[in-house]
Amino acid sequence: MFELDGLEVSGVSVGGVASCIDLPALKVCVDVGVILDRTVARDVVLITHAHADHLGSLVQHVAQRGLRGMPPATYVVPPGIEEDVEALLEVWRRLDGGELAANIRPLPPGEPLSLRPDLQVTPFQTAHRVPSQGYLFERVCKRLSDSLAGANRAEIKARREAGELIHQATREPILAITGDTSIDGLVAHPEVMAAPRLVVEATFLDDRVTPERAAAFGHIHLDELAALADRLTCEHLLINHVSARHSPSEARRLVEERLPAELAARTQVMVSRIRPSAG
Ligand SMILES: [Zn+2]
Ligand SMILES: [Zn+2]
Repeated sequence: MFELDGLEVSGVSVGGVASCIDLPALKVCVDVGVILDRTVARDVVLITHAHADHLGSLVQHVAQRGLRGMPPATYVVPPGIEEDVEALLEVWRRLDGGELAANIRPLPPGEPLSLRPDLQVTPFQTAHRVPSQGYLFERVCKRLSDSLAGANRAEIKARREAGELIHQATREPILAITGDTSIDGLVAHPEVMAAPRLVVEATFLDDRVTPERAAAFGHIHLDELAALADRLTCEHLLINHVSARHSPSEARRLVEERLPAELAARTQVMVSRIRPSAG
């Protein structure tokens, strides 16, 4: 479990093996490469892309909710894959004989989805080998319209009764999660690099895979984050999706060694003990 300035981020994320990031305070999780006991309770699941390490446990999530008498969850997916995801569930319904009820909801980049009156999430386009998107979470605050600045209560009341909108919404980024992407999918979004908390993938951390190879796989190399340090103005960086070739201690050491000290000081690494059985 990680705490990024008071916001809990937990879960599992090992590149190519399984990824599920849980955000308990926001009551959502991102990806279902594996399900964790408490992520079954998440009514909204945000899917970054359909690789098996991110979507492979979808049917388990759907089935567990049914077993526990919970209403169907909403699974937000990148546009264009919804029919295939529906078809996948349809095959499972045939095999399973159960209802396996789920709401599959495509949501295009740039279109916000309200999670609560004070919280919204907006997908942003990333660059991977299949349709993919990350998610930017923003707090929504209502405040008095600029046009009413300095107005007294009676005037505000009169203008509201006349049908004028007296409030305007402001949005304040709180967290961004990239999912799998090459560095291009991050650099294209200054607002993501500036989010106060940024969960970013870095699958490859040392010279065994070069940044060029990482880009060809649609992934980020740690050296690319190091080169981007000045533009990564997030206050807290959480690296995830580290390849299983790196042990947890090695991953922490490489991040410490290869990131500029100033960036390393605000960076944490999500490492998990799940490893492929073939090593
Ligand atoms: Zn992945
Ligand atoms: Zn992937």
